[in-house]
Amino acid sequence: MKIHEFQAKGILAKFGVPIPKGEVAETPGQAREIASKIGPRVVVKAQVHAGGRGKGGGVKLANNPEEAEKLADEILGMKLVTHQTGPEGKLVKRVLVEEALDIDRELYIGIVIDRATESPVVMASPEGGMEIEKVAAETPELIFKEYINIATGFRDFQARNLGFKLGLQGNTLKQAVKFLLALYKAFESSDASLAEINPLLITKQGDVLALDAKMNFDDNALARHPEIKNMRDFSEEDELEVEASKFGLNYIKLDGNVGCMVNGAGLAMATMDIIMHSGGMPANFLDVGGGVSEESVKSAFKILVSDKDVKAALVNIFGGIVRCDMVANGIVKAARNLDLKIPMVLRLEGTNVELGKKILEESGLSFSAASSMKEAAEKVVPLAK
Ligand code: ADP
Ligand code: MG
Repeated sequence: MKIHEFQAKGILAKFGVPIPKGEVAETPGQAREIASKIGPRVVVKAQVHAGGRGKGGGVKLANNPEEAEKLADEILGMKLVTHQTGPEGKLVKRVLVEEALDIDRELYIGIVIDRATESPVVMASPEGGMEIEKVAAETPELIFKEYINIATGFRDFQARNLGFKLGLQGNTLKQAVKFLLALYKAFESSDASLAEINPLLITKQGDVLALDAKMNFDDNALARHPEIKNMRDFSEEDELEVEASKFGLNYIKLDGNVGCMVNGAGLAMATMDIIMHSGGMPANFLDVGGGVSEESVKSAFKILVSDKDVKAALVNIFGGIVRCDMVANGIVKAARNLDLKIPMVLRLEGTNVELGKKILEESGLSFSAASSMKEAAEKVVPLAK
């Protein structure tokens, strides 16, 4: 799950990570009031789930409260387009009004889970303020890393190592070490999958603060953090993906035209592979899960057919815990309700498969049946073309 910059800064502050003074405004009038309190010079920052706001015109400097009001008026309600939003952009409903600080240096700090070493990794780079993907591609030697043993945690000497490599000294180095340790604590305690500070600011006075903050969380751990779970902003997410998550479905939109409905993530991956192997492209990843019900099959179909790119569908169900007859009933009901027009290839296997097939055959639905994954893929790919 993703959250906004102001929310991430709120979490970080609780762990003692220094952040600029600031408050959120939903109207230009509020922005002016906040600026008179913490200003006079403030930065007005669009709050959307996307980076690159600065370049896109979503981060602007105001010299006084009147200017803050004017800038907030411009930014609120705009469709902010950045390299991360796609051409349609994202509607700005809130701005963060923050004290404007004097920048000496902009550095980069990021914490993620490294799958290869199965440990968190703290990354630091002197090339802050720009796209880290570009730094990684062009000058990877400018990204320094410390891998963390989760049993012993992030050690002081590791934080100091990073500070030295960033070229920090004296009081600034001390502050940076404290900053890194607090940031790691926030990352670990909130079950984050990403904590990124870009830029980490070194002020002209030598102080260290998080100028930007991005945090993502492990969805599977959200049950332990109700206060973070409540920060979810549905309006920032793909509509179909939100709909799917309400029914406990795992849905990810992809670029192809073969809609897939599968139970189990492993089978879903294998299904996408075999579609590509047969010359097609999946339109989505859709895992209806192990405990699939008639209701979830119905909602899965609804999601498939509301995607205009889907030209044919492949339903691939293995009945282990779930019974094929129940799935078949779900398909029949959904197909009737939704007036399904796209061609469909069905492959059912496992518990009660005969009963499931019978239900489908007697339903009068038009579909083609396949008895293996390979056959199913070879049938559906030409149908989608
Ligand atoms: P994004 O990464 O989405 O572009 P940032 O929060 O990183 O947004 O802001 C972009 C740039 O704006 C920063 O690199 C920094 O130069 C400037 N900036 C952001 N917040 C402040 C602030 N409080 N004071 C001064 N400059 C700021
Ligand atoms: Mg940034």
